[in-house]
Amino acid sequence: MKHILLLTTGGTIASRPTDEGLAPEMDGEDLARRIPFLTDSYTVTVRDILHLDSSNIQPEEWQLIARAVYTERTGYDGIVVTHGTDTMAYTASVLSFMLRGIPIPVVLTGSQLPIEHPLTDALENLRIAFAMACSGAAGVFVAFDRKVILGCRAVKTRTEDFDAFESVNWPLVGDVDAGGLHINTAALPPRISGDCVLKSELCRDVFLIKLTPGLDPEIFDMLHQMHYRGVVIEAFGAGGLHFIRRDLISKLHSAAQAGMTVVVCSQCLYESSDFTLYQAGQKALAQGVLQGWDMTTEAAVTKLMWVLGQTDDPTEIRDCFSRSLCGEVSVPN
Ligand code: ASP
Repeated sequence: MKHILLLTTGGTIASRPTDEGLAPEMDGEDLARRIPFLTDSYTVTVRDILHLDSSNIQPEEWQLIARAVYTERTGYDGIVVTHGTDTMAYTASVLSFMLRGIPIPVVLTGSQLPIEHPLTDALENLRIAFAMACSGAAGVFVAFDRKVILGCRAVKTRTEDFDAFESVNWPLVGDVDAGGLHINTAALPPRISGDCVLKSELCRDVFLIKLTPGLDPEIFDMLHQMHYRGVVIEAFGAGGLHFIRRDLISKLHSAAQAGMTVVVCSQCLYESSDFTLYQAGQKALAQGVLQGWDMTTEAAVTKLMWVLGQTDDPTEIRDCFSRSLCGEVSVPN
């Protein structure tokens, strides 16, 4: 039988109704008791590492989860991590960077309804997560609603529907039908040679700006005063920022002078940004900002946190953003 490690962190899947609403009160053993069809089919080791609503999962928790996965990677065929859905895409993205080259499948899953609810989606999600964890396909993935998504391409797009996650700008890694779990090998992360090395250092001083028409450029002065080292800007459409009346472009220049790294993406969920298309984008590129291309916001923010955690050398930072590290971006030739 395949040996699977189940790491539990909380989330709706492990929640029970309380006076203050749903709270993650079940522990790993409680969860395991609800899935006898899995514990009978696999050798399952359960480890309870957190009991949190994923709104409370932050960089410290990402590091703890990454360390737990890294430490256990050689003892199991695969690892399933149960996690709240709200920030699962951030966790899946950041783990993809921290655990680049992990030799086994690491599969995050959760549910829209608690596992104890009669209509729960948890059982189906755990079934596919376990199947993926046994697949031998190395990398970090999200399994949800009979789909497997590359971790750094997952986005939560629905609050209630069981089909809560989408694979953005990337084909599905897996889907299930009567023939079983089908893996699309072309959608797996790139192979990394050599042993997996845990790189869990992160810079927490990264800010996300969703550009709105007329945004006050002084926001950049404030971020600089607060010692932010990185900014991701979700700009308009294929890529543009306003420079008449309120000149964001000159602020990008001062941000770069002050040593801040700025990554520009699109606020459109689908398809790629390209800041070379319009004058309003080219002016931004001339200030030294980095392009996020088709990265999800979750991947762009966590990549910037991770890269700035590894280096403060501008050439190395630029190099990391000019290529895909774990399948998170398609950079045009
Ligand atoms: N608030 C919950 C969480 O993210 C939502 C869920 O798990 O579906 O922990």
